[in-house]
Amino acid sequence: MGGALATNAGTDTGSIGDLVIEVTALNQNGAIAGYPRDQLVYRYRWSSLSGAKLIILGAKLSLQPAAPEDVRAKINRLLKKRSARQPIHDKSAGSIFKNPEAIAAGKLLDRAGAKGMSVGDAEVSLTHANFIINRGRATAAEVRALIEKCQQLVLQTYEIELEPEVEFAGEW
Ligand SMILES: Cc1cc2nc3c(=O)[nH]c(=O)nc-3n(C[C@H](O)[C@H](O)[C@H](O)COP(=O)(O)OP(=O)(O)OC[C@H]3O[C@@H](n4cnc5c(N)ncnc54)[C@H](O)[C@@H]3O)c2cc1C
Repeated sequence: MGGALATNAGTDTGSIGDLVIEVTALNQNGAIAGYPRDQLVYRYRWSSLSGAKLIILGAKLSLQPAAPEDVRAKINRLLKKRSARQPIHDKSAGSIFKNPEAIAAGKLLDRAGAKGMSVGDAEVSLTHANFIINRGRATAAEVRALIEKCQQLVLQTYEIELEPEVEFAGEW
């Protein structure tokens, strides 16, 4: 929940920020405070909580009550749809790039010929070009090098700068 609320996780059906009533967080002074929706900014894969040096502890969300079997059926339907389009059985970090406004990052990468491109054991998925999969022993450096290769390819082909959705942690 912390990561989802900080990054405004979502899919093409909506983002978690759309559901927030209030977020509870621990601030730098060690105090627990409530942040109502009107004090928060949520944008595509970004929220004012990211980088705000707060530790999210919980949230009150506005949800629609539904019968458990209907919820389960919906989850199964969405998972089926996802497994047909995304390499959910391979090791990956999810979508690598944010979607530019006009077109999905995966489509751009696919059209530019990125599918199957690799650095070491890191490979652009053949199922969905916005996923980099680990074929076995890929290092973080190989994944990052492949990310940069993809960015260069799309920049050269379409003059569009792809912005990573994943975050880079540690020393580079
Ligand atoms: C296979 C796969 C599929 C994915 N599909 C999607 C998708 O469809 N849509 C999507 O939006 N994302 C997707 N993701 C990306 C990501 O995993 C999700 O957004 C997830 O919600 C992140 O949550 P996390 O707890 O793993 O956060 P982390 O990855 O651990 O952290 C993400 C960010 O949130 C911050 N953070 C984490 N916890 C807190 C906290 N308690 N308080 C404050 N800040 C915090 C971290 O510092 C970091 O900056 C996918 C990832 C994978 C691996």
